[in-house]
Amino acid sequence: MKNIDKLFKNTCFLLSAAFFFNCLSADALQIFYPKTPNTETSAASTFFVGNTTPSSKLTINGKEVKVYENGSFVEVVPLKDGFNQIKIDSQNNVEHDMFTYVVKKVPKENLMVKEPQTEVFPENQYIYATIVKNNTPLRAQPDEYAKRITHLDNNTALLLNGKKGGYYRVSLSPSENAWVKAENIVTYSTVNGKLLAQATGVKLDEDGLFNYIKTDLTYQVPYKITETENGLRLDLYNISKNPADTMMFKTSGNLKSLAINTIESDNLSTYFIETQDKLWGYNAYYEGNTLVLKIRKTPQINLKEPLNGIKVTIDAGHGGDCDDGAIGPTGVKEKDINLDIAKKLQQVLIEQGADVVMTRTDDTAVDLYKRVKIAKDSDSLFLISIHSNALEDGKNPYLKHGSASYFYNREAVELAKTLRDSMVKELNTMDDGVCMKSLALTRPTMPLSVLVEVAYMINPEDYQLLLQEGFRQKAAVALKNGLETYLLNSVNSSAGINHQ
Ligand SMILES: [Zn+2]
Repeated sequence: MKNIDKLFKNTCFLLSAAFFFNCLSADALQIFYPKTPNTETSAASTFFVGNTTPSSKLTINGKEVKVYENGSFVEVVPLKDGFNQIKIDSQNNVEHDMFTYVVKKVPKENLMVKEPQTEVFPENQYIYATIVKNNTPLRAQPDEYAKRITHLDNNTALLLNGKKGGYYRVSLSPSENAWVKAENIVTYSTVNGKLLAQATGVKLDEDGLFNYIKTDLTYQVPYKITETENGLRLDLYNISKNPADTMMFKTSGNLKSLAINTIESDNLSTYFIETQDKLWGYNAYYEGNTLVLKIRKTPQINLKEPLNGIKVTIDAGHGGDCDDGAIGPTGVKEKDINLDIAKKLQQVLIEQGADVVMTRTDDTAVDLYKRVKIAKDSDSLFLISIHSNALEDGKNPYLKHGSASYFYNREAVELAKTLRDSMVKELNTMDDGVCMKSLALTRPTMPLSVLVEVAYMINPEDYQLLLQEGFRQKAAVALKNGLETYLLNSVNSSAGINHQ
C-alpha cells in the first residue's frame, strides 16, 4: 500500500496511542481504522476496520454490519460536512461494548494558497552551483511532489537562472529548465554567460555482465536518461563540444549501436543507444569526471531451470516498531504478512537455484533507500517488493481488492504484468491492475523493479486469505512462477519465436 505508508510513518506516535486506547477500552470490540476516535478527512466516506466476538450483533449508527467467522468487520460509512458522530455497538449474551467516533469532514485543501513569485535572473546571468547530496532529484516544478526529471550525483555543476520559494531553477539547455531544492546545493558566484564543460573522450568497455559507455568530461554536468523504442537516449547538458560526435563505435554484448549528436547552440550532446535485446537494467554514475552508463547484458537463461543462477532481491514491505503497514480487522500487521511471504518466496527461489538477497529477514526498520541500495549493490537482476494493500478514506474496500503490481520504468512493465497475471491466476484473487507509480522501490532502473500487492488487508475476504499459511505459500509460488515465465518469455522473444 502506498498513500497510507506515509500517513503511518508520520503518525507512529499517534498510532501507538490509539492502540493503547483500544487495548484498554475494548474487551470484545477492537477498531483499527480509523486510527483514533477523533479524526479528520476531506473524503466523502470513511470505513471502519475491526473485530468483535464472532457471535455478536454489530451495528454502526444503528445499521447492522456483517461480522465474519473470525470476528472481522469492515464497513464503509458516508460522511456529511462537519462533525459526524458514529456509534459502534457490539453485543451478545454476555458482552456489550460501545465506542463513539467523531469524524470531521473538512473541505478539500484550499488551492488558493498564495504561491511565492518566480524570480527570473537577468538574461545570460547565472549562479554557478554544485550538488552536495548524492541522488538529488531535479524536478519539473518547484514542488517536492513534482515529476522527477533526473537524479544527480554529488559535485555535479549546475547553472541556475531563477528562484522560487525553496527551489532554484536549473538551466539545462536554452529550451529546458528543471528545479532543485536549495538545501541540496551550494551556490558560488554569479557568472555572465554559460560556463560549459567539454567532453574529451568517449569509449566503450565491457565485462561478463555489463556494457559500459564512458565519457570523460572536464567536470561533472547534469544528464538525463530516457528509455526509447529500441534502447536508451542519454542527454548531456551544458556541453560546448564532444569530439566523439563523428566517431564510429564497435559494439558488442547488449549494445547494438551508439551515435552521438552534439548541438552546440543548445549546449547539448545526445547519445542514441540501440540495444540488441530488450533492456535488462541500466544505470549511470560518475567516477571522478567520467560519466559511466552501465547497461546489463542479456542474462544466460537455462531453459530447463530458468531461475538457476539468477539473482533476486526480495523486499518485505514495512517493518520495525514504527512501520506496521496496514492493520487487518483482527489486528494482524501488514509487515508480518509481507515478511512471511518474502521468506517463503526466498525458499522457493533457492530451491530453483536462484541467488536470493533479502532487504530484511526479521521485524526491523529498514530505510527505503537502504532497501534500494542493498538491491543495487548486490547486482540483482530483479527487485521484488512485497506488500499487502489498503485504501484511503473515500474508497470502498468491498469494490477495490485483489492483486496488483506497480512499476515505474518502461523496462519493468512486462515483468509487472507477468507477476500480476501469475498472482490473479494462481491465487484466484480479483485483478486489481498493473499501475505506473513513482515509488522508492519502483524507481530503480537496475535491478528491474516491481512492487506487488498480493491482496488487501482491509477487504475481509482477501484478509481471510492472507491469514492462511497455505495462501501465503501459494502467493510465493505464484511470484516464483511469474519470474520463471518472464525469463522464458524473454528467451522466446529474443529468439523471434511467437508464442502468442
Ligand atoms: Zn505496504
